Parts: sequence; structure tokens; C-alpha cells
Amino acid sequence: MSGMVTASYIGASVLFILSLGGLSNQETARRGNLYGMIGMTLAVVATILSDQVGGYAWIAVAMLVGGAIGWSVASKVEMTAMPQLVAIMHSFVGLAAVLVGFANYLDPNVSMSGVEKTIHEAEIYIGVLIGAVTFTGSVIAFGKLQGVIGSKPLMLPGRHFVNAGIGIVCIWLGFVFVGAHGVNQGIVPLLIMTALAFGFGAHMVMAIGGADMPVVISMLNSYSGWAAAAAGFMLSNDLLIVTGALVGSSGAILSYIMCRAMNRNFFAVIMGGFGGGGTATAMAEDGEVQPVSADDVADMLLSSQSVVIVPGYGMAVAHAQHPVSELTQALRNRGIKVRFAIHPVAGRMPGHMNVLLAEAKVPYDIVLEMDEINEDLPNTDVVLVIGANDIVNPSALEDPEGPIAGMPVLEVWKAHTTVVLKRSMATGYAGVQNPLFFKDNTRMLFGDARESIDAVFKNI
Ligand code: NDP
Repeated sequence: MSGMVTASYIGASVLFILSLGGLSNQETARRGNLYGMIGMTLAVVATILSDQVGGYAWIAVAMLVGGAIGWSVASKVEMTAMPQLVAIMHSFVGLAAVLVGFANYLDPNVSMSGVEKTIHEAEIYIGVLIGAVTFTGSVIAFGKLQGVIGSKPLMLPGRHFVNAGIGIVCIWLGFVFVGAHGVNQGIVPLLIMTALAFGFGAHMVMAIGGADMPVVISMLNSYSGWAAAAAGFMLSNDLLIVTGALVGSSGAILSYIMCRAMNRNFFAVIMGGFGGGGTATAMAEDGEVQPVSADDVADMLLSSQSVVIVPGYGMAVAHAQHPVSELTQALRNRGIKVRFAIHPVAGRMPGHMNVLLAEAKVPYDIVLEMDEINEDLPNTDVVLVIGANDIVNPSALEDPEGPIAGMPVLEVWKAHTTVVLKRSMATGYAGVQNPLFFKDNTRMLFGDARESIDAVFKNI
């Protein structure tokens, strides 16, 4: 049986790698998902059948309850609430690592000595540490994405000293824990460190401002992978180590990509301080907005040769992707060149807009990344900004003191005309006013994005 289990673990690992490869491209994403599902089924079945596992009744109950909750939540969740769901899932991985660590440490059947004991206890300590930081960090991220906690960063005085202090105490407690004689002595430093790590995770994410949340999400994704890998070490499960390492490293790469996309230094983001230091410009000082009707927008589109559509979070909220796709098709049928411009942090999760556009069957070859299209915007007749705000905010480039200073944005104001579809003059996720709305060549089409697109489409 053990040979079969090992072979299944290798098969599952290969499927997970193929899955990640598939998910990196829109055309192959479905296949990537399928590989992941098959790999996970294989992994679960092989683990249950392995010699390490007993207590099938408990496992059956846990799988039934967990599966039912997962099924019901996933089938009901709105696409716009997906980022929160992912954040709360990460928190479960973190909590699982903490619980596995404590269960392992308190297990009376585990008896080790010498180097083996030291290594085992170091695994437990590190696993619980990473798990605890992931747990509270993800819970706070969930709160911020759900809007239960404000997106403004919490800037405690001397917060860097607090963080450094917690780090030093945790290292010292680690030595005390590994050097302890028996569970009764060791449990105290383990408990204190767990409480400190819970506090550190919450504090770290509370200190990060709204616009930098994408980096936090990918970072917590990475942490949850390392927490799973640590649990794999504690449970001596090779597949969990491999899977955790895959998630951990892909999350780390994603964090790097997000930082580069936002022109941020990873350590500066983690230390907090971006996204909240500046003050927003008063809207009244920026001038008048110029509202426009759906009929006028239809006329503008029909008399243009080149149109660029910039989707943002509001398109997801309005479920406007299908009408947008139909409008695109209608314009293309009339020989108008239509392309989509995707900002790396548009929406509320990496790849959010790409997923929506793929769902609405927008051809992949007209969906371009920010770097590919920014230079072309001055030669564009009309840019339609659909429910986007922060990602088209010129103050990122023009106001060095502002909360989103330095973040590359889609320079839509360079087009001949920009039409912004949104419901009001409200700010975006970062809470920053947007001078784009007051530019001479900007027109505002107020209303729900889906209704506005439907109204424009009627006149095409
Ligand atoms: P924003 O949150 O900046 O703006 C969205 C705009 O959509 C709002 O100003 C809102 O204005 C409008 N809107 C909302 N509902 C509707 C509707 N039904 N119809 C029309 N408009 C609507 O979104 P962006 O995509 O521009 O930027 C993403 C932001 O989210 C960035 O700050 C990014 O850092 C952050 N973020 C991104 C994550 C990621 O991984 N991509 C994760 C976490 C945060 P109004 O209310 O007036 O309609």
C-alpha cells in the first residue's frame, strides 16, 4: 500500500504543478483547474488510505461537514465577494497549522529524544508561528475586504519597535521552548508566542493602507502555503510539504509581481506606511464635472476609430461584463478597433477582470496589460472607464504626497475623450479623490454600469 500511496503523492504533485502552469494563461486556465481538482482528489484519497491515518469515522464526519459548508458557501458567493472568501480560507489554513502544532506537541504517543526531538519541536514552533500570523492577518484582511474594517492604515506610534520587539521575544521564546524539559514546561513559551504571533498578524495587516491590499492578499496566500508546508513537516506528510511549498512560492512570486505593478518595495509595504500618509485633494477645488447622456456616448463611440475599455471593480459589482462584451462585438462589427486595458490591481483580486472578461467570452487577443496599452492611449478616440477609479487616478503620478503616489496607472486622460461610468462622485477603494473626473476631456455617465451600458447599446 505504501508504494501506491507514494506513487499517488508523486502523481498529485505533478498535477498541482501542471495546474499552476495552466492557470497562468487564460486559454489554459480551465484545464489547469481540472488538473488541480484531480490532483486534490488523488491526494485526499491517497492520504486517507495511507498507514498514517486511522479514525475513519472522524474523517468521514469532518469531510461531510467541511464539504457541505464549502459547497454551500462557494455556490452562493458573489464574484465580488470572492476575495473575502479567499482571505477567510487562508485564515483556516493558518488556524489548522496552529492546531496541528499543538496537537502534535501534546500527543502522548510521540516520544523522541536528542536531535530528532529538537528538529520536531523546531518544526512545531515555526509551524505554529507562521500559522498564527496567517490566521489573524487573514481575518483582518477579510474584514478590510468585506468593509467591516476601514481601509485606512492603523499607524500606532512606535509600531516598528513593537514589531521588532515581538520578533526578538519570539526568537528567545523559541530557544526556551526547544530547551524545555517536558510538555508542562514547554507549553508556556509556546502559548505566549502564539498570542504574540496572533497580535503581530493583526497589527501587520491593520497597518497596511487600502491601495496596498493586493500585496497583502498575495502575501497571505504565500504564508498560508508555508503554514501548510510546516504542517506537512509536523505530520511527516511529503505531499503536504510539496503542496505547501508550491503555494508558498507561487504566492511569493505573485507578491513580487504585485509590488512591481504598484511600484512598491515589498518590505516597505509589509512594514506599513503606504496608502494612508497623504491627504486627499478637496473635490470642489478641482472644477466642474461634465455629465453626458447614454445617447451622446453612443454617438461618440460610433464616430471613433479606436476605443479602449478600462474595466474596474464597479463592472464586477454591476455584473456588466456580458453587456460590455455585446457592446464590444457590435462596435467591432462596425469596423471600430476595440481593446481592453487591464490594470494589474483592478478589481479586488489578482486577475479579477481577466476572469470576468473570459466569462463573458471577450476574445483574449484584445485584452491587453497596462504596459502594453498605456503608450497607445494618446492615439485613442474614446476610453470607456467602466466602474474603475484608483487605477485611472492621475494623482498617483501628479501628487507625490498623496496616498497612492508612485503607483503606475492607466493614463486615460491622454486619450481624446474619456467617459467614466459610475454611480456617484464617491472615491474608490483607496479613498482618494480622482482629478480625472474634472478634466476638460472627461465626461461622466452617471448610473449603474450595467444599465448605462445597456442604454448605450440600444443606440448602437
Ligand atoms: P475602485 O475601488 O478604485 O473603484 C471602483 C469604482 O466603481 C468606485 O469608485 C464606484 O464608484 C464604482 N462602482 C461601484 N459599483 C458600481 C456600479 N454598480 N456601477 C458603476 N460603478 C460602480 O476600483 P479599481 O478597480 O479602479 O481599483 C481597485 C482598487 O482595489 C485599488 O485601490 C486596489 O489597490 C484595491 N485592491 C485590489 C485588489 C486586487 O488584488 N486587485 C485587492 C484589494 C484591494 P460609485 O460608488 O460612484 O459608483
